[in-house]
Amino acid sequence: MRGKMTPLLEVKNLVKYFPVHRGFFKRSREYIHAVDDITFSLNRSETLGLVGESGCGKSTAGRTILSLIEPTGGRVFFQGRNVFELGNREKNHLRRHMQMIFQDPFGSLNPRLTVERIVEEPLITHRMGATCERRRKVQETLKIVGLLPEHMKRFPHEFSGGQRQRIMIARALILGPSLIIGDEPVSALDVSVQAQILNLMVRLQRQFGFSYVIISHDLGVIRYISHRVAVMYLGEIVELAKTDELYKNPLHPYTIALLSAVPIPDPRRHKQRIILQGDVPSPLNPPSGCRFHPRCPYRLDICDTKKPVTHDRGMGHAVSCHYYAEGETRRLPSIPPATGDERQCG
Ligand code: SF4
Repeated sequence: MRGKMTPLLEVKNLVKYFPVHRGFFKRSREYIHAVDDITFSLNRSETLGLVGESGCGKSTAGRTILSLIEPTGGRVFFQGRNVFELGNREKNHLRRHMQMIFQDPFGSLNPRLTVERIVEEPLITHRMGATCERRRKVQETLKIVGLLPEHMKRFPHEFSGGQRQRIMIARALILGPSLIIGDEPVSALDVSVQAQILNLMVRLQRQFGFSYVIISHDLGVIRYISHRVAVMYLGEIVELAKTDELYKNPLHPYTIALLSAVPIPDPRRHKQRIILQGDVPSPLNPPSGCRFHPRCPYRLDICDTKKPVTHDRGMGHAVSCHYYAEGETRRLPSIPPATGDERQCG
């Protein structure tokens, strides 16, 4: 059913570069390639996980999609309208339907405002409802996220990390959005609290039917909450598939290496850990050809110079790697297990 519906969100060839000025007169200009030509779509009531190491561009992608930062290129269609072509007024109107939950529930809430004012603020900004209606709406929304009416008059410092994230969720929820982008929404929380917040997010999606883009470096969080997963490396999406398919049958060498690092909670089972060599290259000067080639244990000659094209291997499982070029049926060769030293390093 999902595949036949018009997507809620379509991101097409999105690019975001940040200029860096160097030299005495700051004349020399280089660019950080934060997001480089990413394309994906998101259906209604669907969750897409964006996963990758720190600095791979996933948070920049989220902020650019919401127009919180200006794009360098590409298009973002939300409910069929190109967000980047809208005027300020239309963009503001659209923002009611596109909300964000930030990583840090401690730093994201204004310490001088009561919870009531924090959660009410989006209604005031969009001039929605009279004072008494807004208060009732705040009360209802706090209840939905598991907070009490008496919490309304308290300040953020009086709450635990999990409660603060509930306040953030209530603030995102109060306008009735169709899309919520969560930027590492649980990474600042204890593991036990993470599970509560993730369960709450799943329940709210079932109740209200909105869509999520969840940005995280945590493969466990992404697996739990996402219907589909996009793996990012150095500003590019290298693999995209349904969650079960991606975790059972990863194709891209980077995805395989990431998943090989996830511990299995069974001491009788051993997994071959793949240790990637070297650091993530600088996004100021990304490698030619396949950006992963300096670290790829499967590297071919062509990988140094030619950028791989993304191919759909069936059932929406897309991968960007020369091993899977169109018409190719070869499979990745097995890699020798990591040495003892490498295991310690990893
Ligand atoms: Fe490795 Fe080449 Fe595939 Fe890039 S294109 S992931 S370097 S095999």
